[in-house]
Amino acid sequence: MLLQHERELVADYGRKLISDGLTVGTSGNISIYNREKDLIAISPSGMDYFEIKPENVVVIDISGKVIEGSRKPSSEKDMHRLLYTYRKDVNAAVHTHSKFATLMACLNWSIEPIHPILACAGGNVRCAPYMISHNEEFGKTVIKYIADRYAVLLGNHGALTCGPNIGYAYTTALSVEFCAELYYRAKAVAKPKLLTQADMSDMMHRFQSIREKQ
Ligand SMILES: [Zn+2]
Repeated sequence: MLLQHERELVADYGRKLISDGLTVGTSGNISIYNREKDLIAISPSGMDYFEIKPENVVVIDISGKVIEGSRKPSSEKDMHRLLYTYRKDVNAAVHTHSKFATLMACLNWSIEPIHPILACAGGNVRCAPYMISHNEEFGKTVIKYIADRYAVLLGNHGALTCGPNIGYAYTTALSVEFCAELYYRAKAVAKPKLLTQADMSDMMHRFQSIREKQ
């Protein structure tokens, strides 16, 4: 079986998406890119996360063609493969419909630095405009908005996080959801005090060195 290790990780982290409350039903998706083999392991479309076995995870190439697997790859595969094409520092991506990140995306707000942990995203988290998500056009727009960051909100839709490996991408999805909730709740009662660039710089460097070691 091609990309056995990556397929096991996609299945394992898919179950975590549900148990950690980062998505609902069969929504969201996960992929891991093996740069050496130039192949991507991506979650199958419309399948219960607790039923996904490694062999159900689909292997596609960088053009989106299915190389191995009987299932249909996630309908948002173009967003994943374009991310790996444009971002040489990224080998894993997690797309969620987590509640507060999606709420922020429905407001078309960006998440501003309310807590130092947001440094994992490489700065504030911008919001891309709403678009139908099953084509290259959407993928290209997402790349433009994520730019050099590790997280982006997808307008009226959800969030996308990424990193050098699945552990980084997944933890960033948890941290983005945590900060989205803090930011939204703080804004609901008063004007939150945001951290300055100087406040954030120590954590930004720490996350940079974590990424470089992986
Ligand atoms: Zn989605």
